[in-house]
Amino acid sequence: MLITVDGRQLVNFSSNDYLGFAGEPALAEAAKRAIDEFGVGAGASRLVCGTLAPHAALERRLAEFKNTEAALAFSSGYATAVGTLGALAGKNDVVILDKLCHASLVDGARLSGASLRVFPHNHLGKLESHLAWARKNEPAARVIVATESVFSMDGDRAPLREIAGLKERYGALLLLDEAHAVGVIGRHGQGLAQEEGVEVDIQMGTLSKALGAGGGYICGKRNLIDLLINRARSFIYSTAPPPAVAAAAHAAVDLLASDAGEERRQKLWANLGRFAENPASAIIPIAIGGEDTALAAARWLFEVGFFVPAIRYPTVAKGTARLRVTLSAKHTPEQVAALAEALGTLQQKFALHGKMPG
Ligand SMILES: *Cc1c(COP(=O)(O)O)cnc(C)c1O
Repeated sequence: MLITVDGRQLVNFSSNDYLGFAGEPALAEAAKRAIDEFGVGAGASRLVCGTLAPHAALERRLAEFKNTEAALAFSSGYATAVGTLGALAGKNDVVILDKLCHASLVDGARLSGASLRVFPHNHLGKLESHLAWARKNEPAARVIVATESVFSMDGDRAPLREIAGLKERYGALLLLDEAHAVGVIGRHGQGLAQEEGVEVDIQMGTLSKALGAGGGYICGKRNLIDLLINRARSFIYSTAPPPAVAAAAHAAVDLLASDAGEERRQKLWANLGRFAENPASAIIPIAIGGEDTALAAARWLFEVGFFVPAIRYPTVAKGTARLRVTLSAKHTPEQVAALAEALGTLQQKFALHGKMPG
């Protein structure tokens, strides 16, 4: 978990490679074998002649892993969100988003042309009033609620059961982006929907974070996947992902589902337990407030050997700048303890009032 920046070696606390899969030999081997067999580029879009054996095998594996009828792989998580919302919603439909949803979901909702409603972060009452509004004003509309299992800049979780109950009551569809939950939460790292035992219509995720490869996916019913194949423009009008990346992602899912994957996840949670009280995910934000203070704090951590980025507007709201710490199974207990100690010093130096972890 080291990174070299400007010629200095630092301990990296900013990566989404939560399980250390990105550097895993099993993934590299799978990619090399696929390059040998299929070459580097896919050569065309999936619907022309770009669908190669690794793409089809990855999709079967994802569906099996997520216990769904089918799956579709995209070239990135961003392309997944934009293509999926654009395919499922149109100008007579309604998309309801959590205020803290990732830019890819916001862009997908905007591009779809649907009416867009935003509820304050995890606010069930406001979500319900948007659902009631949609049903009253657009009785024939398709209504899609989109949210995330784990929010990327806050590290907290959505109240999934309650949200699923509401979408059921109002006859809406639920799109759940499990980008930061897959690999981290649930049996075999299947995600929050599995852990909470909640049925999700449109299960989205990325292959680029805990899975350590690249690409995005949707898992769901066969008819949902067929519709996306025919309508998701980011799937249709883009060259298929390199087969080696699909093969690496497939190896990552295999590893995740294995005992070795379980062990890796336990290491991650042990590190999280050392660092924070009741961590909800592998993302631990350290609230700072001012943008300049956050930058100075990140700079100070850099000087003492830690790479922790300052997250500022427009990624988060003005005045809520923060340090975003992410932990990995690959951090040693000593590295985690050293960061906790540095954050304690930082708190005094910068006269920060929030409680520091550790
Ligand atoms: C990272 C992320 C994405 C985009 O995934 P990429 O594979 O990096 O394009 C989508 N949604 C959420 C919540 C993310 O954190």
